[in-house]
Amino acid sequence: MSITDRLRRLIHLAGPISVAQYMAEANAHYYATRDPLGAAGDFTTAPEISQMFGELVGLALADMWSRAGRPEACYVELGPGRGTLAADALRAMAAAGLRPAVELVETSPALRAAQAARLPGAGWHDDLSSLPTDRPLLVVANEFFDSLPVHQLVRADRGWHALAVTWSEGVFRRVPGAARPAPLPAPVGTIVETSPASVAVIRELARRLALQGGAALIVDYGPARSGAGDTLQAVSSHAFADPWSEPGERDLTAHVDFAVLCEAAAAEGVEIRGPVGQGAWLQALGIDQRASALSRAAPARCGEIEAARSRLVSPDQMGTLFKVMALIAPSWPTPEGFE
Ligand code: SAH
Repeated sequence: MSITDRLRRLIHLAGPISVAQYMAEANAHYYATRDPLGAAGDFTTAPEISQMFGELVGLALADMWSRAGRPEACYVELGPGRGTLAADALRAMAAAGLRPAVELVETSPALRAAQAARLPGAGWHDDLSSLPTDRPLLVVANEFFDSLPVHQLVRADRGWHALAVTWSEGVFRRVPGAARPAPLPAPVGTIVETSPASVAVIRELARRLALQGGAALIVDYGPARSGAGDTLQAVSSHAFADPWSEPGERDLTAHVDFAVLCEAAAAEGVEIRGPVGQGAWLQALGIDQRASALSRAAPARCGEIEAARSRLVSPDQMGTLFKVMALIAPSWPTPEGFE
């Protein structure tokens, strides 16, 4: 049965489903059944644009680890995609003397297979609960939180309602469902999103860091301050598509609410730095110098390297919409790139 038929049947039997359930079921199917990354897929992420991204992440972690006294540590990645970021980061870390155990939180069998090919010796986890508890964690999550499900609330004439997804006249449609407390004062028609799944993950991560030591670098797209708006979007073959048709066949994401994640993590006792723009962060870590060095070593690739650098840092590309936030265990040093 296709996922569209399965969701239709579920709605027929039990009534409208939440936007979060629609997004969760669609993305679980989507990621489980393909490798969506790269030119031949649906979208391209920073580590797939250039090796410089993962290398600078690795150097930032290794430098912080070194200042923390070089304890035995674990590299953890949430939603590692093809394993490209981890492979580039681990190479840079090894050059700095850091060779951590590698633990990957990934639910997609298709992507686990791609990761296994690049990261021999890694361990896999369905969620954070089975990660090692006996050592500091060096955690990276790039474009992970944007794929976690969001609820949507709408301000109707007489107060706020959760939006629910129903099926009528051959299409999925959103309709106002159960009444909800007002999240903020706003005009009729305003949509507000919440992501309890993201909050649960960031809390668990922060709790682990506070207990075990280490830090997490969270890279994703969204505003630094919470705002209203319908940000749920679908991408297919590198173009925007309708999120309400062909669930499970296109990538669904929503803006990450950094302010909410920051507050949830801080409440568990970790220090927060950022969010700062990805462009400023990469430049503070030395991406311009790294690009020059790569170009000197391979002059024929100079144009390609400069194009990749520009795509990662330019304000009109990924430089400001994408942001980096660090969660830091008490008594651990601040990673570079946040001043
Ligand atoms: N970080 C990679 C891939 C980003 S795509 C990159 O930057 O290229 C999102 C990743 O998160 C995929 O690996 C996907 O399979 C994984 N993912 C999505 N939802 C997940 C969940 N609930 N639990 C674990 N992994 C998830």
